[in-house]
Amino acid sequence: MIVFDGHVHTPFCPHGTKDPLEAYCENAIHHGLTAISFMEHAPLPHNFHDPVPHQDSALSWNDLELYLLEVEKVKRAFQGSLTIYTGLEVDYIEGYEKETTKMLDTYGPSLDDSILSVHFLNFAGQYICLDYSPQSFQKLVERVGSIENVHDLYFQTVEKSILTPLGAYKPKRIGHITLSTKFQKRFPTTYLFDSKLDTIFKQMYEQSLALDINGAGVLKPLCGETYPNPRFITRAHQYQIPLIYGSDAHQVKAMMSGIEQLPTTIDFVTHLDR
Ligand SMILES: [Zn+2]
Ligand SMILES: [Zn+2]
Repeated sequence: MIVFDGHVHTPFCPHGTKDPLEAYCENAIHHGLTAISFMEHAPLPHNFHDPVPHQDSALSWNDLELYLLEVEKVKRAFQGSLTIYTGLEVDYIEGYEKETTKMLDTYGPSLDDSILSVHFLNFAGQYICLDYSPQSFQKLVERVGSIENVHDLYFQTVEKSILTPLGAYKPKRIGHITLSTKFQKRFPTTYLFDSKLDTIFKQMYEQSLALDINGAGVLKPLCGETYPNPRFITRAHQYQIPLIYGSDAHQVKAMMSGIEQLPTTIDFVTHLDR
């Protein structure tokens, strides 16, 4: 049974909905959750150009303080009925490690929780958002030569995110680790996920990192699976990696997505030790 949703977005997300924080909290209680983490996209480095058409991948720097304040406010309002953690979903962007570390050093002390995710891939100094659209994925395929090479570039970047030091406040959880499968029904592949994920899970175990078990892929018509899929959830569990369910909801009605796919014999993390 899922009692902790560790990955919830907010009205502060520029590509999300305006559903208020309180509505997420009430819905969490309605579904029997005892804890949630608000996990807004951390602002991107000032010197990084957001490659998506409307530059709306993340919180704007101007909204960051207000976001943190508003989460603290609901935290108090729901005290006793729901545990609320303040979090940021931090992008690992190859080449911007210094800027990311600086952001984490500054805002990490205000956070209860955080996730490290890869959305942007660096190919020959050009960044493309992997999961923006099937068109952006197609563009990547053309750049790197094949669908398999896209997966490979993605997982190489994930490996870097696991192994690269980002200071004392580096997130302790890796986000939607198979995000490169978001459009898998349109881009079928022979990529060998098993051996790659075995390597990655081993690295995560050694680095004491937890895994975001992300339900959002289930709602994506070209994916239809959790990130990672149930078979790899079981595999990660064999590596003794802590598993934290995350709806990755950008609207209230997307909470609890994908829970029907989760292996029922596996225990998911129920709260954070702090
Ligand atoms: Zn988002
Ligand atoms: Zn994400």
